[in-house]
Amino acid sequence: MITKQSNSKMWKEQLGEAVAYAKRRGWTVEFRKNAESSVDAKHSLVLIQSNRTLRNQFYMLVHELGHVLMFSKRDYADNFLRLNGKYSLQSKVLLLEEELLAWREGENLAKKQGWKLDNHFEVLKSSMISSYCLWATHRKHPYKRFMRG
Ligand SMILES: [Zn+2]
Repeated sequence: MITKQSNSKMWKEQLGEAVAYAKRRGWTVEFRKNAESSVDAKHSLVLIQSNRTLRNQFYMLVHELGHVLMFSKRDYADNFLRLNGKYSLQSKVLLLEEELLAWREGENLAKKQGWKLDNHFEVLKSSMISSYCLWATHRKHPYKRFMRG
């Protein structure tokens, strides 16, 4: 039987292994309270929000490692840095695509490393992705300029 205690030990161990994996690839992982989990390619730095459960921190790190793996791919720039204009609909949808792929890359990495994921991985992934979708598809009314006055 998996007790809550041994479960938390497992997340802690997996989190440690994921940090070690990042280090082997030349990345630093920092845990910060109230920080939004993110990747900083310029400084090879992954930031993880530390006031979350160990499982949540581990899953966010798995996702950020998905980004790390994507950055190292030869075709990364061609695929994801080809649009200018941060807030055009096209560039937002492209970023959404990148986010989806980072979740998939992370999941594949976890499988390869033998890291255990439970159903909360899908819960977290879906919640994050729905936020990206809302952000990406929020548009100004295209005919607004005709509606003035
Ligand atoms: Zn992401």
